[in-house]
Amino acid sequence: MKINEIFYTVQGEGLNMGRAALFIRLPFCNLSCPWCDTQFDTFFEMPTVDLKKLLAECGCRFAVITGGEPSMNKDCPELIGLLKQAGFEIAMETNGQFPVPAGIDHLTVSPKRWMTKSGKPGAHEAFWFDPNNSPSEIKVVYDSEMSDSVLDSIYARYERNEFQFKDKNPRFYLSPEWNVRGSTAPKVVSYVQKNPAWRVSIQSHKVLEVR
Ligand code: SF4
Repeated sequence: MKINEIFYTVQGEGLNMGRAALFIRLPFCNLSCPWCDTQFDTFFEMPTVDLKKLLAECGCRFAVITGGEPSMNKDCPELIGLLKQAGFEIAMETNGQFPVPAGIDHLTVSPKRWMTKSGKPGAHEAFWFDPNNSPSEIKVVYDSEMSDSVLDSIYARYERNEFQFKDKNPRFYLSPEWNVRGSTAPKVVSYVQKNPAWRVSIQSHKVLEVR
């Protein structure tokens, strides 16, 4: 299986912030966000027997599959199967532009609008929703190009009943983009104060200086 990186850490963001977690990054992505902090085009081959051993010896039973964009990765269903066999609760982080494989317990949809590698504009507000794979949370990175109207349009889709949350609890998180947090954090706080359905989510793993 092609793995970008795999490491034991804590989940830094959103609903599961602070939980011990095995992070598994799958390679490749359809987008090209300018502030992306992942070298997602690199990978190594991990034999299944080695992955099974690592899962068995891991200190927790909570895994986060991320990327890159994991939902477009052909190895994702096999990885989910191995995690299930090993008794893991599985979270996935996706940009929301592809259907998500079955078996995910906690789905974070983080819509992005940045250009695809082919030059086609990414669909920021037009993220995927599927009654069989409802999000547990929506997490939006508030970067220097973000506008409140984009956030309004995402929430409007929820109000129009275009999607529901997995456990029926709406969870909208807004995260200041780390590199420009000095200018975006005040905007995030202001937006949340005006729109209390949203919550601030800090990239606490960066505060803690862990991966
Ligand atoms: S969608 Fe995620 S992994 Fe892909 S380029 Fe954007 S930030 Fe990076």
